[in-house]
Formats: sequence, C-alpha cells, structure tokens
Amino acid sequence: MTIYQNLIAGEWTGADAVENINPSDTKEVVGLYASGSAADTKNAIAAAKAAFPAWSRSGIWERHVILKKAGDEIMARKDELGALLAREEGKTLPEAIGETIRASQIFEFFAGEALRLAGEVVPSVRPNIGVEITREPLGVIGIITPWNFPIAIPAWKIAPALCYGNTVVFKPAELVPGCSWAIVDILNRAGLPKGVLNLVMGKGSVVGQTMLDSPDLAGITFTGSVGTGKRVAVSSIEHNRKIQLEMGGKNPMVILDDADLNVAVEAAANSAFFSTGQRCTASSRLIVTEGIHDRFVAAMTEKLKSLNVDHALKTGTHIGPVVDERQLKTDIDYIEIGRQEGAKLAFGGELISRDTPGFYLQPALFTEATNQMRISREEIFGPVASVIRVKDYDEALAVANDTPFGLSSGIATTSLKHATHFKRNAEAGMVMVNLPTAGVDFHVPFGGRKGSSYGSREQGKYAAEFFTVVKTAYTLA
Ligand code: NAD
Repeated sequence: MTIYQNLIAGEWTGADAVENINPSDTKEVVGLYASGSAADTKNAIAAAKAAFPAWSRSGIWERHVILKKAGDEIMARKDELGALLAREEGKTLPEAIGETIRASQIFEFFAGEALRLAGEVVPSVRPNIGVEITREPLGVIGIITPWNFPIAIPAWKIAPALCYGNTVVFKPAELVPGCSWAIVDILNRAGLPKGVLNLVMGKGSVVGQTMLDSPDLAGITFTGSVGTGKRVAVSSIEHNRKIQLEMGGKNPMVILDDADLNVAVEAAANSAFFSTGQRCTASSRLIVTEGIHDRFVAAMTEKLKSLNVDHALKTGTHIGPVVDERQLKTDIDYIEIGRQEGAKLAFGGELISRDTPGFYLQPALFTEATNQMRISREEIFGPVASVIRVKDYDEALAVANDTPFGLSSGIATTSLKHATHFKRNAEAGMVMVNLPTAGVDFHVPFGGRKGSSYGSREQGKYAAEFFTVVKTAYTLA
C-alpha cells in the first residue's frame, strides 16, 4: 500500500506509517499515513521559518491565485473528498460532502480577502505628521486540529494563515489524516513555494508537543479538547506566543411553551445527534419548559425512532458510527453515569450491529436530568443528550448559562420578546433562534466564551486579528 507522506520543505517524506481505519467498517484500511517524529517536526518548523521572509512579502495576486485554485479543486472533487471524509471520520456522505463544499468556500473567501488587504491613514494629533496603520503577517503559525471536522477546520485555519502572508506547520488529528493530506497536496500543486506549508502527521505527544516546545512558532491556532488547549496556553506564555484556542462545549437548546413543536424537534434532533453528536456546537442539554415538556419528549422519541444509524456511505443513513473505540467507550460510560445519577433513559443508548463491523451506537436521550448531573456538565462528544425540565423562561436562561462553557446557545420560541432577550443574555459566542446550535456560515466570526475559547475569533474578516500583527508608522511630512 502507498504511504501518504508528510510534506516538509516542499518534499514528500516519511517511511513510518499508521493505518487510517474506517469506523463504519473496521476491516477497511482507508490508507497508510506517515507518522512524523520530533526531528521531522523541527525540520518542518525550520523550513517554515526559512520560507517566511519571501512569502510574507509575496504579492497579493499570487496568494489569491493559489487559494482560488485550491478552492476550485476542492469543489470539483467534492464527491471524492466527501467520500474520503465519510470513510475516515464516519459522518454521513451528505454531511461529509457538505463539509467539503464548505472547505472550498473558505478558500474562495480568503482568496478574495487576499485582494482586500488594507490599512488606515489617519492624521496625527501633532502637526505635519502622518500616521499609517497596517497589518503585517505574524510569522510561522502552528496549526493543530481535531478529528471531528477533518477538512473544514484545517481549511479555516490554513486559508487565512496563507492569505495574510504567514508560513505554516500543520499537524492534523491522528484519526483523520486523509483529508488533511489531500488539501496540502492540492495547495502544494496550486503553486505554493517550498516550505510555506508543511504537513507533519503523527502523534500529539510527539509532533504536537514538539510544536509547543518550539520558540520559533509565532502563533498556534488550536482546536481540540480543553485539556490539550490548556497545554498549548501554558507553553505559549513561556514563548510569548500568540494563541487562538477553540475547545469544548456543553451547548444548551432552550425549548419554550410557545415554540413551534416541529421546529423545536427538528432543531433539537439535529443539534444533539447529527454528525453523531460529535460537534463542538452540538447541544446535549435540552432545557424544556413544563407546558411543552411531555409533548416535546414524545415527539423527540418518535423522531429518534425514525433515524437510521448505519454505514456512513449507505444511502438513507442519518447517523454514522462513533469515530473510534475510545470515544465509543466514553459515550457508553457516560450513559451508565447518567443512569446512576438518576436520569431516565427515554430512548436508545445501546450498541447495535450492522452489516459491517463498526462503532454503532443508538442515540441516547435522557429525561428527568438536572443541570448538576455530570452528564449535564461535562462534554461527552457523542450522541447523548438530556432533557432538563424547567418552570419558565427565566429559569431556562439561568440553566442555559450555568455551565463552564460558552460556545453556542439555542432557543426555540415564537416570542419576539424572549428571542430578543435570549440573544442579548445567552453567555455564548453564537446564539441560534429556531435553528440548531450547530451549523454556521463560513464568512462570519466563529468562536465562544468562558471555557470554550481563548483568543480572537476564527473565520470571516475577523480572522485577520489572529493571523496578523498591527503596525503603527509615523512620518514627518
Ligand atoms: P484533542 O485535544 O485530543 O486533540 C486535538 C489535537 O491536539 C490533535 O491533533 C492531537 O493530536 C493534538 N494533541 C494531543 N496532545 C497534544 C500535545 N501534548 N501537544 C500538542 N498537541 C497535542 O481533541 P480531539 O479529541 O481531537 O477533538 C475533540 C475535542 O475538540 C472536543 O473537546 C471538541 O469539543 C473540540 N472541538 C472544538 C471545536 C471548537 O471550535 N470549539 C471544534 C471541533 C472540536
């Protein structure tokens, strides 16, 4: 089998490889992917450092053309790349193709942003002096990504890094190297000079840790768990390095008595269970007021019965497998914890077998949960959600905000008053009204508050904040 290698200083390299396994069919090896060493990582950082002076001064048209080419190729290959994504991560084919299209759109967006770079010229408070404010590239950027969005998250970090003139060392999650390899290959062939974008696949404890320990990374943009995010933060203080951290969530979806029941059920089922609940913006706390509680639980249970859990590539599958055995164990452990805490398992939660050996779990819905239970406070990152019964809107808002996280927050209501109040008072980076907590646009800011995020926003023009550094220049006329 061919080994998909790392890209370091423009050369494909690496003989040590690991198997990329399909969670829908564990007999299938998606491919063999290089597992880089600490020395590979250091070489990649050195290559990115050497490439920085020229790339940081490259013309905006060159950057535009490369990013546009990449976006166009990803779009042209959306079905093939979507199938690769579905095979390595386990989300359904339509979800995977949707994510691939989004990656393409992100490259198109930043291809445009490259042409819109601008500064400000302002008068000085002193006579005969001019002031210019410009944004300059930050330097070598370390990009560390999780497994749950294998093409979109790499895209939304790599595209702005290159657009604003930075060079990159990119380390994808071990479970999903395939899509990362594909987009690096596409960008490399699109004409990036050697060393501008380096790919080092491999272990977090080896490749990732070597990146954290390096004094040569000017910034690290990280998406992943809270624990790893904290390590990135601590190491970065020591190196005076800029960081952008996107971490966990325990997102609430409030359902009020006046909600349209169909809208509420569709939004809640999507938020909690689509993409197998493996989204940082997934809602695992369904906070429901008394007047609609029983009708909502009945309708949700009916909806769950209609969802097929099966092979990600099979037509008609609504929910794919859990990503791997370790995550499956975590999900099952939390289902047991929920039972022991006194929540009632109203639906699902059992392992199921299908035609192929995979990590198939029937989505689990708890009722009679409280917001103090561990299943309501800790991120599970699987198809497990709890219904928390509350008296009224005020209690719903208080419960929604009573969490260490603050990524996305949703409400289902027909009341303008409550929707408006919730938008203003939800302690979250993103608020959704009558929409799932997950599912966002690619051209506007993405990020959270409290324990979910640290640093400036990702995506849209707000990405410039992290990927550039501001300079203020004064000239005597
Ligand atoms: P993880 O923290 O285990 O891994 C994330 C990345 O960090 C991987 O590439 C991993 O190899 C690397 N890593 C591990 N140890 C490291 C170390 N010592 N030094 C440097 N890098 C290291 O997270 P995961 O399991 O891949 O992803 C799931 C988590 O990601 C969930 O908590 C989820 O909420 C979060 N997530 C957040 C967002 C968001 O935008 N907020 C989006 C997607 C996923």
